[in-house]
Amino acid sequence: MQSMGATATVRVMSSEEIAARAGGETAFLHWPQRATLFAEREMRLRQLAVGHAMGDFLLFLAGVVHAQHEQLQTFGQQFPSLPLPDNSALDRAARAGLPPLPASDWPRDPAWQTSLRAIAAAVRAQAPAPAQAVLKALAEADSDWLERQADCLLTGVMVGLDLASAPIVAAALQVYWTHLLLQVQSHHGAKGQPFGRIDDETACPCCGSRPTSSITRSSGESLGQRYLHCSLCSLQWHMVRIKCPHCLSAKKLAYFSLDTHDALEVADAGPTDGDEASDEAQPVHSRAASAVIQAETCDDCGHYLKIMHSDRNAFVDPIADDLASITLDLLVADTGKLRHGVNLMLLFGESDTAEPSQPPDRADPPPDPGAA
Ligand SMILES: [Zn+2]
Ligand SMILES: [Zn+2]
Repeated sequence: MQSMGATATVRVMSSEEIAARAGGETAFLHWPQRATLFAEREMRLRQLAVGHAMGDFLLFLAGVVHAQHEQLQTFGQQFPSLPLPDNSALDRAARAGLPPLPASDWPRDPAWQTSLRAIAAAVRAQAPAPAQAVLKALAEADSDWLERQADCLLTGVMVGLDLASAPIVAAALQVYWTHLLLQVQSHHGAKGQPFGRIDDETACPCCGSRPTSSITRSSGESLGQRYLHCSLCSLQWHMVRIKCPHCLSAKKLAYFSLDTHDALEVADAGPTDGDEASDEAQPVHSRAASAVIQAETCDDCGHYLKIMHSDRNAFVDPIADDLASITLDLLVADTGKLRHGVNLMLLFGESDTAEPSQPPDRADPPPDPGAA
């Protein structure tokens, strides 16, 4: 009986599982850590600000991210009974292949506005004069106006969006969604992952938002694997490397980075140390092929997303490093490629379009509440 029982437990893996496990176990989701997510981002922003042309802006955002950290630590005590999806809602979303906490229509609790006012108050003391007026206006803004701003940000509608206050509104929404994600994990995680893959692999499996950028992980069983980082809830989901995160084509990808003179240079080939690359197929290592931040461009759909290599710099952060590498966006935009990544803290404003993510012309600097 014992031996029969043993053979009966052998299960057949799908081809996808076999592919995913070829390099060891690959976790599909990488969850944010409440204690370190924003603290590490703040540290990275302060590091990147040194000698940077946008240094004042990066330091202002470091203060915002510090306030996000403080809010995330106390959010549960401040708002102990926020509505969350229950088991049947999680099941329904999973069966429909949809995210359980969709950014566009999850009913927001007014708690996020309380958090917004706290963040605005916390950064006001250190903010430069032009930002003072923005923060004062936010503190006095009525709830309806704030909800409209949130709707614009979360649905990518630029019409009616106040670009100057958008980074603060975004900061509060990020805290709120990250908290909801962590609550769902702690309420339902005991029985395994509370949710998994959704039908649209280009969108966040928790909230359906687009990624800011992708990051290769540098430790443990995820070594060298690439994850897309959600622009809203901070969840990271696995996507194999050398695959376009916009159209999923793997045919016409190229990798660009900045050379030492801030000009664009192309890597000889894609990343060389990832899940797909075999030992026999290692191309020659050029400087560009080992850059910490690359733009992964796709000639099939004309889009690009940045890929950040934490295996080459352990401090790299999907949102902070995206903000600090806007020069790369400007140069890639010159080649006609469109940005796929969304960074809610630095929206590229084109007031009459529903695409919030296109870089401005070089003559048109980004909105900068820290120095404008
Ligand atoms: Zn998300
Ligand atoms: Zn593509």
